[in-house]
Amino acid sequence: MLFLQLPPPRFSFEEPPTNIPLAAGFVLSALEASCKQSIRAEILGPEVVDVFADLGLARNIIGMRPDFAAMTLYAWNVERSLFLASNIKRQLPSVLIVVGGPEVTPDNRWVLEHPSVDAGIFGEGESRIGSLLEALAAGHPPQGIPGAFFKDSRGIHVNRGDAQAWNLESCPYPYLDGRIAPSRDGTLFLETVRGCPFRCRYCYYHKAFRSMRLHPFASVEKVLDFAYERNSELREIYLMDPTFNAQQRFKDLLKSLVRRRLKKDVRLHAELRADTLKLEDVQLLRDAGLVSAEVGLQSVNPVVLRAAGRYADPEKVARGVTWLKDAGIDVITGIILGLPEDTPASFATTLEWLQRTQAYSVVHPFVLSVLPGTDFRAHAATLGLRYDPRPPYYVLFTPTFPEAEFRPSLLRCEQAFDMELDYIALPSLVDSGPALLATLDDSPYVSKWIIDPDHEEWQRILSSVIRKATDPFVMWFRGHYEEEAIIKILSEFSDANPHAVLHVVLDFGDLPPLSFFDRAIENAGQPELFLNRSYYPLYPEGEIVSINFTIILPFPRRRPERERISSEHLATASVVWESDWLDEAKVDDTELPLLISRPLSEVIDMYKATLKALKRVHGNRSEQVLFRDGHLQQIWNSQARNLEPATRLPEKILVT
Ligand code: SF4
Repeated sequence: MLFLQLPPPRFSFEEPPTNIPLAAGFVLSALEASCKQSIRAEILGPEVVDVFADLGLARNIIGMRPDFAAMTLYAWNVERSLFLASNIKRQLPSVLIVVGGPEVTPDNRWVLEHPSVDAGIFGEGESRIGSLLEALAAGHPPQGIPGAFFKDSRGIHVNRGDAQAWNLESCPYPYLDGRIAPSRDGTLFLETVRGCPFRCRYCYYHKAFRSMRLHPFASVEKVLDFAYERNSELREIYLMDPTFNAQQRFKDLLKSLVRRRLKKDVRLHAELRADTLKLEDVQLLRDAGLVSAEVGLQSVNPVVLRAAGRYADPEKVARGVTWLKDAGIDVITGIILGLPEDTPASFATTLEWLQRTQAYSVVHPFVLSVLPGTDFRAHAATLGLRYDPRPPYYVLFTPTFPEAEFRPSLLRCEQAFDMELDYIALPSLVDSGPALLATLDDSPYVSKWIIDPDHEEWQRILSSVIRKATDPFVMWFRGHYEEEAIIKILSEFSDANPHAVLHVVLDFGDLPPLSFFDRAIENAGQPELFLNRSYYPLYPEGEIVSINFTIILPFPRRRPERERISSEHLATASVVWESDWLDEAKVDDTELPLLISRPLSEVIDMYKATLKALKRVHGNRSEQVLFRDGHLQQIWNSQARNLEPATRLPEKILVT
């Protein structure tokens, strides 16, 4: 039995996702306890699940020949997971696909009816996974299991019965026996409680976990012992509890953390109800190491809040947020557009209120997702909510919020809080140094392919690269511009890896025709991906973000020419200006994004002064200063961007 949880889509391969399969870890513990080892199970590790694009992932799994694949489905991975399930089944027809997670609800029929899905569990899986799998393994229909479904030749059988809540004392916490591990960047997800006392109508969590249950204090303490071991690599604990300060014993936990912090400093992140905070709570949170907190404001309109089943006095939220900020804790304040009764004017009032009260460090605007299993989904018709039936299930319009008003409202938010909601990081433009592969056989994966499309070699290895490609992947074309070859490479890659984020770098020293971008998107664009649909409110005309273009052009050109090129290509590509090397004195005249081409070995006597000048001039946009030389990029990453190689996934670059 193989558990898998695919990561959220991301734009940079080297930044590993924080994709810890905590739920699968708990379910695996329960499975082993209930099946007494008759079913051997494991969780697919991050070296596979967080690395490979679709084809490589499927091949890895098929190579393991599991009898069952258990998938944890979230809005951000459900479509890719089901695509993967189909690929696995094509090669291994006997494998049974079992699903769980927040996407698996009786009303989310497209998931239940997916031809590759065989069975699944609604809500927490621990109490039923053993009986479900034992029945399936024995070839019996898993009947009589509450809150579960299975399929046979007669169709889908859904049992809507209420399952008994799982006793959280039954199994050890999965970090402790090595079933799961903190993420590569040193983050550990910690759930100390299951359930939420509130009943927000847009939320599924309180439906999945109907009562509040605490993990035994002793188990949590053991996880903390593990996390605060002096030589552990752990840097951050992300408290998963939906409202950390809603549980009675949160102060006891904080006191334990305060004591541990004397030995080792671990950053904490939590979701809080700001309106119920007391000043002494904030002091305790700060002393325990809390550096950032998420707070859901959602709206300041009482009618909107009431319709959402969310009862919080905005003035009390502002008071709590001010205390947190005064204590040096960053606050991410969430607001929602498109709630029932919300209007563009009431959303604007929420923005003005935030500007006036400063109840945020960062504002995070969400478009309402009409999630499966929620009250809003059940009553969407009577509430007049029209929504996209596929993830992220965005509301399209409501009786009070017209479709055409979402984009202007988001842009107003961007303007009010000086943020870029559609920011996409440039790919690494390293093309030399230790990450270079001599041949494709030297690495299990390849994250960047530098190709001369005029050179026939690419035809020989294209299918091997596609099999070993990562997600995200960089396809870098240089040499002679051969449009037909480029289009063929892109479309073959995308057919095999449709869910991969693709960066296309065009390095011909000149501009490709504008028509190229339309052709490339037409052949490799995948407009139906979750990632593209999640940008829909910002780009109602359907812009594609899963494929990104970067053009490298020589610098300096005359400023008016630079401005003309950048603005002409603004909608299609990022233009990066390349310079051979910069004297310290010339750094002030540079423009971002900037690529420096000379290798470290040629500038060994002067690189320190230039990097210092670059940091002075571009330190606040340091991610837009790039180097072709891998050593220089690494020095820049650690000096100007605070990025440590150990926390990043190493690039593997193939040049043909
Ligand atoms: S949104 Fe948060 S506070 Fe509201 S019910 Fe869900 S988990 Fe609880």
